[in-house]
Amino acid sequence: MATQEPAAPPAGRVAEPPARPGVRGRAHADPLPPTSAGLHEEVARIMAKAGEHDADVLVIGSGPGGYVAAIRAAQLGGRVICVERSPKEWGGVCLNWGCIPTKAMIASVERLHAARTAAKLGVLTGEVGYDFARIMERKEKIVSTLRGGVQSLLKSNHVRMIVGRARLTGRNTVEVAGEDGSRQSFNAANIIIATGSAPVIPPVPGLEGEGIWTSDNAVTATSVPETMLLIGAGAVGLEFAYVFNGLGTRCTVVEMMDEVLPLADSDVAAELRKSLSRQGIEFRLSSTVARVERRESGLAATLTTPKGEEVVECQVILVGAGRRPVTADLGLEAAGVEVDRRGITVNERMQTNVPGIYAIGDVTGKLLLAHLASHQGIVAAENAMGHEARMDYRAVPSPVFTEPELSTVGLSEKEARETGYDVVVGRFPFRPLGKSMAIDQQEGLVKIVSERKYGEILGVHIVGPHASDLIHEGVAAIKLEATVEELMTMIHAHPSLAEAVLEASLDVRGQAIHKPRA
Ligand SMILES: Cc1cc2nc3c(=O)[nH]c(=O)nc-3n(C[C@H](O)[C@H](O)[C@H](O)COP(=O)(O)OP(=O)(O)OC[C@H]3O[C@@H](n4cnc5c(N)ncnc54)[C@H](O)[C@@H]3O)c2cc1C
Repeated sequence: MATQEPAAPPAGRVAEPPARPGVRGRAHADPLPPTSAGLHEEVARIMAKAGEHDADVLVIGSGPGGYVAAIRAAQLGGRVICVERSPKEWGGVCLNWGCIPTKAMIASVERLHAARTAAKLGVLTGEVGYDFARIMERKEKIVSTLRGGVQSLLKSNHVRMIVGRARLTGRNTVEVAGEDGSRQSFNAANIIIATGSAPVIPPVPGLEGEGIWTSDNAVTATSVPETMLLIGAGAVGLEFAYVFNGLGTRCTVVEMMDEVLPLADSDVAAELRKSLSRQGIEFRLSSTVARVERRESGLAATLTTPKGEEVVECQVILVGAGRRPVTADLGLEAAGVEVDRRGITVNERMQTNVPGIYAIGDVTGKLLLAHLASHQGIVAAENAMGHEARMDYRAVPSPVFTEPELSTVGLSEKEARETGYDVVVGRFPFRPLGKSMAIDQQEGLVKIVSERKYGEILGVHIVGPHASDLIHEGVAAIKLEATVEELMTMIHAHPSLAEAVLEASLDVRGQAIHKPRA
């Protein structure tokens, strides 16, 4: 039991590799909670019905985990309270500081690139440039529209919205401190903790003060720096490198591991790195930042690289390596909620060790992904409302929204081999596809990792156009325990990018039609 902030997860958005599947059809179960938990929930529900509680479910935090959990609990007939610490944070990190602002900025850079290369497609645009203030205004408008959307969804589901900092004061009680110093106490049959995560700056000498950015600074930037050093080649680091490089910043990315996106399949990760290098981004792999000094010209970072020390001068250092779960001052000790190095510990029903208290999303320190937080929110809400729901981590897509995009689901080739599978792999590049040529996006490939005997699809890894959408064929395949034979016999539309998925599945069995014979 501890309430202090646990150590930061490793670099990148992903804090833990996906759980490994067992053999076909095996259940993927964490240990179940003590049997008294079910009894407690039943008693809590009966008490709530009898009016003993202010709410059936009280959710702390309104990110993609919290607001989705609140809506699901309300759909199931619960009286729900959702507490958010700031009126400007409805929708959480994802909506206000993460997924949405970055994707809005990325879309501007993609359009810029498309306009600059339009002549290739016979489209004449005249002089092309950008207005950073307008890029950021548009981003802000999208964020505030969606923030309003979350609030109206909660309202339409009759979720009681409370603004203030929530703190557990017992197993069923929460105190909310308003910014004006007011305090309110609530009693709830079930509590769902969805307080998310916050950026971490590693303890490197000199890595503090002006010019040292986290992702929060990057999405609220008022100007485009000339030079930037990015620490960490996880999804966050790569997406910002893509954005600022696209806007003309000279970007150098430092990654301590020997490849970008260390938890992704190394083939697709390498392919993305090569593509981003061609766009002008520099990479220093197997390297770390030893110290940072201030010079008249700006910042000077001394890197430890395999070739020795190197000094990189830059205006800005963007730290994209690591986030910590928000567990401090939450009263976890008062309620007896256990925390480990990664965050609040939960089982597959999203229950903590304390009956009636659940935790979801980044605060649990699993995969730091919005869609996972939402799914965990649904599971927690259903359990809190007396249903039986469990998490299945086998088919969680992990997208990176650079251009080209990268998205993976399931096991990498290395993980599949280490798990002991007899692995067979199929690959198909986007280059020869008619659709890729037509849209002038030919970079990348689809890789399918399969088990040889039954052909069960274990992993799908895509780098290329619309990878974040195409990956869902892989998500469905893994979730449904499909085989390559099943995928091979599914008719794919022509001309489409999904033909690369079809051809990669055919390639697993050496039957790709549009691949020259060796
Ligand atoms: C730059 C960046 C880009 C990202 N891009 C993507 C992406 O493209 N796709 C993706 O899937 N994920 C992305 N992520 C990750 C994603 O944002 C998180 O995984 C997601 O927001 C986690 O949701 P959550 O509900 O757990 O917590 P959060 O979104 O962090 O929400 C937690 C909420 O709880 C509130 N809160 C905290 N403490 C209290 C308290 N004591 N009382 C009341 N309220 C409290 C906070 O104010 C916050 O609103 C990105 C993250 C970053 C930083």
